[in-house]
Amino acid sequence: MESLAREKIKKAVVTAKTIEELEKIRIKYLGRKGIVTQAFKEIKSLPSEERIQEGKKLNQIKNLIQTLIAKKDKEIKLRNRNLKNEWLDVTAPGLKPQQGHLHLITQTIREIAKIFQKIGFNRVRYPEIEWDWYAFEGLNMPPNHPARDNWETFFIQDLENKKYGKGILTPHTSSGQLREMEKKQLPIRMLNIAKCYRRQSDISHAPMFYQFEGLLIDKDINVSHLKGTLDFFSKQYFGPKRETRIRPFHFRFTEPSFEVDVTCVICNGRGCSVCKEGWLELGGAGMVHPKVLANGGIDPQKYSGFAWGWGVERLFMMKYKIPDIRLLFSGDLDFLKQF
Ligand SMILES: [Zn+2]
Repeated sequence: MESLAREKIKKAVVTAKTIEELEKIRIKYLGRKGIVTQAFKEIKSLPSEERIQEGKKLNQIKNLIQTLIAKKDKEIKLRNRNLKNEWLDVTAPGLKPQQGHLHLITQTIREIAKIFQKIGFNRVRYPEIEWDWYAFEGLNMPPNHPARDNWETFFIQDLENKKYGKGILTPHTSSGQLREMEKKQLPIRMLNIAKCYRRQSDISHAPMFYQFEGLLIDKDINVSHLKGTLDFFSKQYFGPKRETRIRPFHFRFTEPSFEVDVTCVICNGRGCSVCKEGWLELGGAGMVHPKVLANGGIDPQKYSGFAWGWGVERLFMMKYKIPDIRLLFSGDLDFLKQF
């Protein structure tokens, strides 16, 4: 069956230039009187084993010819298509690929850091697994003091240090204050943004959340510096119309201590059902307690400073009027895509 040499068939198909030429090749081999069709007839007289062998070979050749012709057919048709009927407008807008964005909390953290950077605060990070000393005792909250109850703390089983006490998941970023003071690099302008942990879970609390802690220590620092700094931040973050005020409060690690309020983002301070009297609470602040300065190795006679610790999620929720903190941790794309 010299006439069925594969190379010869392949060459004939590949060099065909028109659909007509291709059809001739098909008829030559696979037509009713074609070479392959004839060969199938001829093997009928062979003994059965030989017939099976030859039949297999012929089927392979038949499949090969069909595949080669189909491929060439497509190729010729593609080359012959009428380009006048097709058009491409290179100025038409393309299909935009879906693009994600940073999570809302990450965006807010970056925004906060950028605002404080403008007035010289450096962003730092301190351990999330912290010692009792840094989170409580060193901040003027001795063991068993009732003030500790304000932070519903996670204690780590079997983790204890003779000098620093029990191991905990830090319940606030204030634990960064003493660590920053221990660096002995004065003056201090610290911004510690980190995860905090508390045994709380409802629409305004999550067991894990973010806080940002500011600490400024220098000579001759007083309450007006605190007020000016936090007012600057509020106007940058919420907009220039925001007013701030400070109210006396009590914390163990600051003296005097304050709660900082901002005019309501819904009614602009006129008073509404959310704020009642026009103010919303931002968070705590105060002048660093002399005992805390001494615990950090700083002489309270020479230096003074102020600190504040506010919630990142709380700030974002206030600005965009988000009712439930859990939305921020849900991974719900319909919600996240809105920002
Ligand atoms: Zn209001």
